[in-house]
Amino acid sequence: MINSVIKVSQLIKQVETQEGPLKILKGIDLDVKSGESLAVVGPSGSGKSTLLGIIAALDTPSSGNVSIDGVDLSNLDEEQKAQLRKQKTSFVFQSFMLVDTLTALENVMLPAELSGLKNAKEKALQWLDKVGLSHRLHHLPKQLSGGEQQRVALARAFISQPKVLFADEPTGNLDSANGERVANLLFELNQAQGTTLILVTHDQKLAMRCQRQVQMEDGHLIELTQTPIAVGE
Ligand code: ADP
Ligand code: MG
Repeated sequence: MINSVIKVSQLIKQVETQEGPLKILKGIDLDVKSGESLAVVGPSGSGKSTLLGIIAALDTPSSGNVSIDGVDLSNLDEEQKAQLRKQKTSFVFQSFMLVDTLTALENVMLPAELSGLKNAKEKALQWLDKVGLSHRLHHLPKQLSGGEQQRVALARAFISQPKVLFADEPTGNLDSANGERVANLLFELNQAQGTTLILVTHDQKLAMRCQRQVQMEDGHLIELTQTPIAVGE
């Protein structure tokens, strides 16, 4: 029985820049339990998105290890990583990342259909209902408000029933009422589906709704047991 769904050890990420090598992650260890909700906070430029991308198998570390649901990513080739991402994870972005030319229903349905999910349309309809968008099925993203677009993105993320949902500033482009609605859905689904939630946020209220908070600080990860330090973008 694997209790930790994410295990990160001694993660280092270094990139080459015009000014020379830049160490973005300086040795990160992290263990996330199945079903846990974890907030990653910290100042802009501290490495939060880089960390999330590596844990989500979208990017590779310079050294160190990441495993998702007991599978060590360093043993996988690109195709196997893509397969693992499809089977176990979903990602929600600050900028929604919907396909402009597809309707809400198609945005939710097509990726699911492509990854071989049965009854994709029926499930997409159910998920769009859960996020309160049954009346917007045939609208294009540009015909939807930001909050509605992010709810489409949530339906798309949850339809594959991921073990882990990654969200990078999921409420960053929303006003507070829409942000709260999206956050409510995230936690509802985290609880109802047992989905592990790892989210990067500047929103202190959102961070505090997670069971656990960690802070990125100049490439290091600090476990917070108290209220996170307020930081602005
Ligand atoms: P955060 O999400 O906390 O704002 P990021 O992870 O996006 O931080 O970036 C951390 C730092 O690393 C920033 O200074 C950013 O400019 C830099 N950085 C990220 N990726 C690259 C890259 N591929 N090449 C050069 N610099 C990068
Ligand atoms: Mg970021």
